[in-house]
Amino acid sequence: MHHFDPSKEIQNYLVFGEYGGVNPSIEDSSTYTFLSPEKMKELFDHEIEGCFLYSRHWNPTNKCLADALAKLEDSEAAIVTSSGMAAISSAILQICQCGDEIISGRTVYGGTYALLKNFLPRIGIKVKFVNIHNLKAVEESITDKTKIIYCESVSNPLLEIADLPSLGKIAKKHNLKLMVDNTFSPISLTPIQLGADIVVHSLTKFINGTSDCVAGCICSSREFVNQLSDINSGASMLLGPVLDSYRAASILKNLHSLHIRIEKHSANAQYISENLEKLGCKVFYPGLSSHPDHDLMTELMNEGFGYGGMLAIDAGDEKTASNLMAAMQREKIGYLAVSLGYFKTLFSSPGHSTSSEIPKEEQKVIGLSEGLVRMSVGLDNDISETFERIKKCIKEVGLCK
Ligand SMILES: *Cc1c(COP(=O)(O)O)cnc(C)c1O
Repeated sequence: MHHFDPSKEIQNYLVFGEYGGVNPSIEDSSTYTFLSPEKMKELFDHEIEGCFLYSRHWNPTNKCLADALAKLEDSEAAIVTSSGMAAISSAILQICQCGDEIISGRTVYGGTYALLKNFLPRIGIKVKFVNIHNLKAVEESITDKTKIIYCESVSNPLLEIADLPSLGKIAKKHNLKLMVDNTFSPISLTPIQLGADIVVHSLTKFINGTSDCVAGCICSSREFVNQLSDINSGASMLLGPVLDSYRAASILKNLHSLHIRIEKHSANAQYISENLEKLGCKVFYPGLSSHPDHDLMTELMNEGFGYGGMLAIDAGDEKTASNLMAAMQREKIGYLAVSLGYFKTLFSSPGHSTSSEIPKEEQKVIGLSEGLVRMSVGLDNDISETFERIKKCIKEVGLCK
């Protein structure tokens, strides 16, 4: 276990509002005045600290959120985007051009899979999907065209843990970038400390935590963030995935309670997983010693935040999974909805929703069962009472006696 505490870094990051407010002011402007034409010319030539030009380039409120996210991920710098997909696509397009190759894990988020599988080949970027746990297969896939090794720190939806230190070593040896999607495990895992070069997030999920907006971020070296925002060649500047400053301000406020929320999400998910397993259900949760990556997660995680708020139940077949989800919604355990990281429990069947971009045969190969139900466990105060209602649903659909 690691003793890094990202919440302390965020807590110690103080910014005042324009009139001394405890929250940074919301910059409600798309453009900024210059005191002289010379100063404007200077800014077009190179970045000037604390000087803003146009809000697609940088907005002060977005900068505050980005700086706090850099603290969270222990990166030199960060930039915020209008969605998680915008963060992923911008970072990839900043690095890769026609003819380049990417090596990606097979069990990535459905939208990412579709981007890598269908969209990038249209512009001549080739993607090889490998079992990211098979380090030999990863290394053997590398060619002189490879630019990125891409994976999720905790994979979606089977919650496999990437061996980031080993992948980082392979990336370094071959002069590649290790790019990690850390959406499932903010605060619990710090991929930059484990060997990642670039960390992306969908802020839409745990980091914001209120399911009221879509946003993303890229955390990396100052050099890479400067490349992304370069006026003449930056993907963030030129593809235009800008986040609105009102949203940046609200996400920043929610970021400050992330550590408390993750602790509670984790404790609740751990309780449900252990008790479902006792009932004889097939459960995937990295906090269970039966999970194949339990020891790896224990080794890599920051102490004190638990194994995360996501778990998956294998209900065996599609019909039972549907019945279970319908029963859980009726019993007010939460909502049948995609997405995650909300204060209430959300559940969906990945094979028919978020992972439906992955072809059926592929789903079989990666072990994605037809009957899988993914749960993002909420912040319920009395989880034992919630579990009694889950148990009622489990019994009703015939998953235990
Ligand atoms: C949701 C999600 C994304 C995409 O993020 P958006 O904010 O919806 O664009 C990427 N990766 C993972 C792991 C996700 O869960």
